[in-house]
Amino acid sequence: MADLKQLTDSFLTLFGGEAENIRFYQAPGRVNLIGEHTDYNGGYVFPAALTFGTTLLLRPREDRLLRFASTNFPDKRFDVALDGIAHREEDGWSNYPKGIVHELQKSGRGPEKGFDLLYHGEIPNGSGLSSSASIEVVTGYALLTEGGHPVDLAELALLAQRSENEFNGVQCGIMDQFAVANGREGQAMLLMCDTLEFRHVPFESGDHVLVIGNTNKRRGLVDSKYNERRAECEQAVQELRSAYPELTLLGQLTPEQLRAEESRIASETVRRRARHVVEEIDRVLQSVDVLEQGDLAAFGRLMNASHDSLRDLYEVTGRELDAMVDAARKVPGVLGSRMTGAGFGGCTVSLVHKDSVDRFREQVGAEYAAATGLQADFYVCSIGDGVSRIDV
Ligand code: ADP
Ligand code: MG
Repeated sequence: MADLKQLTDSFLTLFGGEAENIRFYQAPGRVNLIGEHTDYNGGYVFPAALTFGTTLLLRPREDRLLRFASTNFPDKRFDVALDGIAHREEDGWSNYPKGIVHELQKSGRGPEKGFDLLYHGEIPNGSGLSSSASIEVVTGYALLTEGGHPVDLAELALLAQRSENEFNGVQCGIMDQFAVANGREGQAMLLMCDTLEFRHVPFESGDHVLVIGNTNKRRGLVDSKYNERRAECEQAVQELRSAYPELTLLGQLTPEQLRAEESRIASETVRRRARHVVEEIDRVLQSVDVLEQGDLAAFGRLMNASHDSLRDLYEVTGRELDAMVDAARKVPGVLGSRMTGAGFGGCTVSLVHKDSVDRFREQVGAEYAAATGLQADFYVCSIGDGVSRIDV
């Protein structure tokens, strides 16, 4: 948890005035435990909210000005009139919260008066732990609450996704915003991205902890490859329709159904993409089963199978993620290790015995640096709650 006293001091240094009316809100980051590249195929994902994220300090103003500051970008403050909300390249990161204000205004729930806002993020930006969803959701939640509007968390997640898609031009699915809004301490979330049906699944890891490894490799290829994979999945659906006329998304097929008809897909590459998607969705469901039976080792094996499939069939891992996962699996006490997020960089997630964590950091860090020339960062994490107001 961020140091609220220190953040209050920073707030007063930046904006002046009194501390009295400052309010505090938080939203977590998230990690997807299994179920990668399934969301846009009408499949399941299995994310969990983290215990670190974005803290927002906010204080009402008498006029109609919004003043945005962030401890993560200390050089520049962005002052924007409520009546002139528009995306501007030169407004940098403030386009994320502005997108939320824009969506609220469109739905008739825009703020009546302005605010001073200070953000403090503990999530490394651009590493696939959803700092963008975190800043969006905390902003939406805070402004709705301040305006006296009821908050429907699913609706808030959709609003935040829309603002990222339309206002910021980033094609993300719904998983990030949904997990950040609806997370629950100690529980992962089985989420069907198509229908937004979800349920919490207790994640009882006993003597094991989740360790996130940041490759610190920027996800350079991610946009073009992401679009390519989506097109390949659509191609597979089209060709499979000669066998399954009603098919609209790969997620509607079981692995058996795909296997029976996969020869209808002409390209061997597209066939492998489809196999990944359908089997990965099945692995998510198996994960829930084994976790509910308390079989953590089986969950670890599913994590490994997920990564291997993303590497060999879907081809979205890359040298850095593979090097980190290979190194992780050699450490005694590691039940499973896989990439998390869209791939080509970003983070891995591993299930590690708590007595092995120090060795894990050391050994994986050294081996990863030797293989790639990059320094890794590691975060031992617990599963936290979704967005909330912090009462002080
Ligand atoms: P990810 O969501 O994987 O962390 P993105 O590229 O989607 O990566 O989002 C990162 C961007 O979100 C940052 O470059 C910045 O514009 C914005 N952002 C996230 N957290 C903060 C923060 N605490 N303060 C200011 N901007 C933030
Ligand atoms: Mg993001």
